[in-house]
Amino acid sequence: MSTDQYSFADPVTRYDRIAPPEETQPEPGLDRDLSPLADHGEESYRGSGRLAGRRALITGGDSGIGAAAAIAFAREGADVAISYLPEEEPDAQRIVALIEQAGRKALALPGDLKDPGYCRSIVEQTVGEFGGLDILVNNGGKQVTQEAVTDISDEQFDHTLKTNVYAMFWITKAAVPHMPPGSTIINTTSIEAYQPSPTLIDYATTKAAINNFTKGLAQQLAPRGIRVNAVAPGPIWTPLQPSHGQPMEKLTSFGQSKPLGRAGQPAELAPAYVFLASAESSYVAGATLSVTGGEPTP
Ligand code: NAD
Ligand code: MG
Repeated sequence: MSTDQYSFADPVTRYDRIAPPEETQPEPGLDRDLSPLADHGEESYRGSGRLAGRRALITGGDSGIGAAAAIAFAREGADVAISYLPEEEPDAQRIVALIEQAGRKALALPGDLKDPGYCRSIVEQTVGEFGGLDILVNNGGKQVTQEAVTDISDEQFDHTLKTNVYAMFWITKAAVPHMPPGSTIINTTSIEAYQPSPTLIDYATTKAAINNFTKGLAQQLAPRGIRVNAVAPGPIWTPLQPSHGQPMEKLTSFGQSKPLGRAGQPAELAPAYVFLASAESSYVAGATLSVTGGEPTP
């Protein structure tokens, strides 16, 4: 392996500036059908035992940012369970194979995060299969752009809140009793928590809520030795975006207005999740790690 996440490189040109064609996928979208394809670190992520023996559950672990975290966690020595929607099976099977190629156990958990029973069951299945749980990544999310608040159906609002906020609550509530001191919870928020796009009212609301939940829960769980943190990505090239996540004019120049001049790749998020999951971040709790291509955050 010649290039890995430690290779010295100009961040502007490390990845191509993408200019996607006008493309639309039905929700939730597949990594398999992205044009151009995204990088999840398949060829580049090099592990060094930073999560040896850990047991992780990642929602939305089939594709995008969650898939990059899943590959990295496995290469760092963790067993990894991934949750995803049944229609994402092809993406999920690809990630399961990569986890297993890293010599770790993989657990595939298809289902719907809007269902509280499913949210509780994925925690129980992970604990049952791996003999415990000490890393939880609440990363699954729904993002559907709408021009006007009057275009957002009550059903969309409900589904966005359920997927992004309620599921995080249900899964966290089920997971915490199983988590020993040293465990970590990482929630995926967004630059949208601070700079809401006018066309993502419902989604941005959930991302502010996730950030707030993270900072409150972190204080509550710190005395028990469980650290809770968040990652705030900027524009990252994933199936979320062409499956009605962006207006077409924003999609075709995705990420180009950021200081680094390009969209980020899922692989560039993985080290942030590894850092927050591992013991090396032992004094970091209630933090939001921004990975925004230079866009300022508070
Ligand atoms: P993605 O589409 O690869 O991942 C989102 C995942 O959410 C899907 O793979 C799917 O498995 C899961 N999901 C959605 N609805 C679900 C449901 N009802 N039941 C079960 N699973 C469901 O896209 P991504 O961009 O990697 O998204 C991961 C996280 O990153 C999301 O929380 C998203 O809001 C956040 N985020 C993404 C960006 C970006 O630019 N891509 C920026 C900021 C934050
Ligand atoms: Mg997916």
